[in-house]
Amino acid sequence: MTAALSYAAQIVAGLLFILALAGLSKHESARRGNAFGILGMALALVATIGLVITLNGLDALLMLLVAMLIGGAIGVHRAQRVEMTGMPELIALLHSFVGLAAVLVGFNSWIPTSGRPGHLDALERIHNGEVFLGIFIGAVTLTGSIVAFLKLSAKMKSAPLMLPHHNLVNLAALVVSLGLMVWFVPTGHAVPLVLMTVIALALGWHLVASIGGGDMPVVVSMLNSYSGWAAAAAGFMLSNDLLIITGALVGSSGAYLSYIMCRAMNRSFVSVIAGGFGSDGAVTGEERDYGDHRETSADEVASLLVEARSVVITPGYGMAVAQAQYGVADLAARLRERGVQVRFGIHPVAGRLPGHMNVLLAEAKVPYDIVLEMDEINEDLATTDVVLVIGANDTVNPAALDDPSSPIAGMPVLEVWHAHDVIVFKRSMSTGYAGVQNPLFFKDNTRMLFGDAKERVDDILKAL
Ligand code: NDP
Repeated sequence: MTAALSYAAQIVAGLLFILALAGLSKHESARRGNAFGILGMALALVATIGLVITLNGLDALLMLLVAMLIGGAIGVHRAQRVEMTGMPELIALLHSFVGLAAVLVGFNSWIPTSGRPGHLDALERIHNGEVFLGIFIGAVTLTGSIVAFLKLSAKMKSAPLMLPHHNLVNLAALVVSLGLMVWFVPTGHAVPLVLMTVIALALGWHLVASIGGGDMPVVVSMLNSYSGWAAAAAGFMLSNDLLIITGALVGSSGAYLSYIMCRAMNRSFVSVIAGGFGSDGAVTGEERDYGDHRETSADEVASLLVEARSVVITPGYGMAVAQAQYGVADLAARLRERGVQVRFGIHPVAGRLPGHMNVLLAEAKVPYDIVLEMDEINEDLATTDVVLVIGANDTVNPAALDDPSSPIAGMPVLEVWHAHDVIVFKRSMSTGYAGVQNPLFFKDNTRMLFGDAKERVDDILKAL
């Protein structure tokens, strides 16, 4: 393959990635989008291998193949073992690899100019700027993603780390890094580069450690965006157009996703990034006395459902843990056969990754037209006979609207308590991901159906 052909193939691969993103933005075209993405990635691989052979000969190909074989084997092994509920932490870990790669590429491409401080021409200075920014973004992504991985896998407390003057600490880190850049770009000196790397590693750690559990969805999409910019920066350092295009696509789509998540949670982007949002003096409601909760049985719920004219199902993380989506889909189909109007209400941050519930329901073949967004279903809840809350907690918590001292205050939620009857499927009275007690469980029209969601749904199906 000639170099020209390889570059042309890279442009086509970039276009296929754009088509993939366009396809993935809707349920109906998601499969096609995935196919475009796979095709684009295959073409990108062939183009890269072709270019490596053209520029460096067959020896380089051998090294490339060995690296691909090792990386591919680890990837396949991990992907086969990971549970759907473990995806967010795996993604966070993968983002950290992109950050690490950008740091390594940065140091690797810096070495050639380091011997001649003070004598650099314009192009070398521009290159130094790329190296500095690439390493900075990469280092922030690396440690930030590691903390996100630790928080999402519950190896680290999800409560925000609140250092005194934490915003000032972040600002100081940025200002000092800028000063170091002014020193590094014209000189290529090692000291500012190493100092900045240490600061950026600490900054990434601090930024994500100061973000509370409830705001983690924004962090996941934000790190996704950072990893894209880190890849784009690596592309500039390596003069690789495909890496620049792909990195920019990931970076900008991740930034847009973060914006959507912020809107869904009624947060300002800047306050989430700065960390510790809503945590000053926040009360988790753990100690408050909300009264007594009432329990129910699968048989009673089955009788209630048979009498109902309209039912709304609001799934959450617990449905994913229990893998209850197939039983839930079956229940919805059985009720629809009996003439009951059944719809699903999906909160944008339900579960542990964007679109988590939509993926599970699609997997269980729930028709798309009965799966509605929170905004579409909320106003119908007051005229709904029964709401089944399947393993959801934070996303149906009225404290978000009623209690300004709650850590999730201001977050829009599914207002299920307006329905005539609410049945909550969970195993205990414990809190959700944000660690906040849920007053819904103590309301007069709420009944708790304790136990594993899949088992309880199966019991209801038997009783029907
Ligand atoms: P929550 O995490 O608030 O609550 C899930 C509930 O499911 C728990 O209270 C738990 O109660 C119950 N549960 C767990 N296992 C089972 C089981 N086997 N059977 C029945 N119930 C079970 O879930 P939501 O979906 O309502 O909210 C998502 C939360 O996660 C939000 O705070 C969101 O900000 C955060 N988040 C979301 C991300 C995203 O991208 N979507 C990413 C990161 C965080 P019990 O233990 O008593 O059974």
